[in-house]
Amino acid sequence: MHINSANFVISNTEVKKCPTDGLPEYAFIGRSNVGKSSLINMLTNRKGLAMTSAKPGKTMLINHFLINEEWYIVDLPGYGYAKRNQKGQQQIKTIIEDYILERTAMTNLFVLIDCRLSPQQIDLEFIEWLGENNIPFSIVFTKGDKLTKNKLDSNVEAFLNELKKQWEELPPYFITSSEKRMGRDEMLNYIEQINET
Ligand code: GDP
Repeated sequence: MHINSANFVISNTEVKKCPTDGLPEYAFIGRSNVGKSSLINMLTNRKGLAMTSAKPGKTMLINHFLINEEWYIVDLPGYGYAKRNQKGQQQIKTIIEDYILERTAMTNLFVLIDCRLSPQQIDLEFIEWLGENNIPFSIVFTKGDKLTKNKLDSNVEAFLNELKKQWEELPPYFITSSEKRMGRDEMLNYIEQINET
């Protein structure tokens, strides 16, 4: 898929203030600092579209970006940022859960996983919750350039093995690097295919 246009539309904290045009939405979520903003910028070829930040855990907003006037990228707040106080953590949880459970336009949720880490409880629990609620999702391993091929393969396998304990069938997954523009065609083709069905 060619990206002809990518424009910021709205930021807010409430599902009911999200766009009402019914266009399909592809949402992105992950732990703070997982590389979500970099990935969105890489996919859209727009350097500053999503705000990359050296300070993790800053944004509590749902951001909508309209792509090719046909579909949305939705940038959800990062979860599991320990330095937030408990009230902040709860607010984020409510924003995320409301969007995921109530947003009928959400066509797929991309769950981002930092490929350098061993499987993290917080990610596995989040994915289990998605399953319990029948949410369509796929996995995106980020920062693939930071590991050797062998280490990357073994970390991906370790994560998928954890998922196999929860699931009979694995969800689709992508291995990406925003730095090296890896996985871009695969993700955009996947989105295009869903949009065409
Ligand atoms: P966010 O908090 O999830 O939006 O994460 P950011 O996109 O702001 O990235 C967090 C940090 O990881 C930044 O310092 C990025 O430069 C770095 N980063 C993100 N993606 C990649 C990648 O694919 N490769 C490398 N080497 N660094 C990355």
